[in-house]
Amino acid sequence: MRKTAVVTGGAGFLGAYLCERLLELDFKVICLDNLITGSMQNIAHLSDNRDFIFIKHDVTKHIALKKKVSLILHFASPASPVDYLRYPIQTLKVGSLGTHNALGLAKKNKARFLLASTSEVYGDPLVHPQPEDYWGNVNCIGPRGVYDEAKRFAEAITMAYHRRHNMDTRIVRIFNTFGPRMRKNDGRAIPNFISQALKDEPLTVYGKGLQTRSFCYVDDLIDGIMKLLLIKREAYFPTNIGNPGEMRLIDLAKSIIALTQSKSKIRFQALPVDDPRQREPDISRAKRFLKWQPRVELKSGLLKTIAWFRSC
Ligand code: UDP
Repeated sequence: MRKTAVVTGGAGFLGAYLCERLLELDFKVICLDNLITGSMQNIAHLSDNRDFIFIKHDVTKHIALKKKVSLILHFASPASPVDYLRYPIQTLKVGSLGTHNALGLAKKNKARFLLASTSEVYGDPLVHPQPEDYWGNVNCIGPRGVYDEAKRFAEAITMAYHRRHNMDTRIVRIFNTFGPRMRKNDGRAIPNFISQALKDEPLTVYGKGLQTRSFCYVDDLIDGIMKLLLIKREAYFPTNIGNPGEMRLIDLAKSIIALTQSKSKIRFQALPVDDPRQREPDISRAKRFLKWQPRVELKSGLLKTIAWFRSC
């Protein structure tokens, strides 16, 4: 019997890659998305596949599916700072009510549940790099708090369902990811810088650009998530997936200018409130437990992403 997987947020940047990968592995896939930040373009290439079903649905409302499902990947949420500032209440609702509904569906089906969590649960971290046992430094009432606290709640309720109902749950903490199909206007650093560089416009570096991030190419991230999803052992504890190659934002901007051979200059702008000063995943657990580590060099990932941005 072929198994069915549900991907909430399946028309989003990561969700669509996951739908694709699950179909390749011979799963049937039900993609749920309300399209507030996801896009039909991301899944256009899957629409002819008879094993793929798209349902426009807001998962903060009850999820009623007749089909028996085996895997639930809960990826629905605005995820770019610009998006979750624009949709603060939807972000809180999808992390809380949406996660509750997705867990309820998993419980009813005795399905395995995987939660997309985030490095934002560490807030502006005081421990560097961030291991999974660091509890974080989050301003719950700041503008970013809507995303951070929604995901922290989502982790808490996932663990409660695991403990109370003995469910097979998994939590991936996703660090900054990039690659083809990111929205040009998504507002994050890499799509902004590439779009600006390709138009020879100034690259908008926030603050002095001394804050750091560690960027993971999407194929690596999806490999890590799939390993966590499919590992046969118990895996309820959170797992960081990301690339530990930490860099300053100013240096990222300079490399994008060089790789696009752009005439752009850099324009410094105000640093957003509560913008984390540093971020780098400690991936010891993923290496040990999943035998996973990223393979794609930043430069080669950036070149593929630049080629995609040029083509559309
Ligand atoms: N950033 C920037 N210019 C931009 C967009 C983002 O300097 O046009 C900075 C932002 O302030 C943050 C870093 O890049 O320090 C990464 O931001 P992003 O929105 O990509 O994701 P975050 O890691 O903050 O969730």
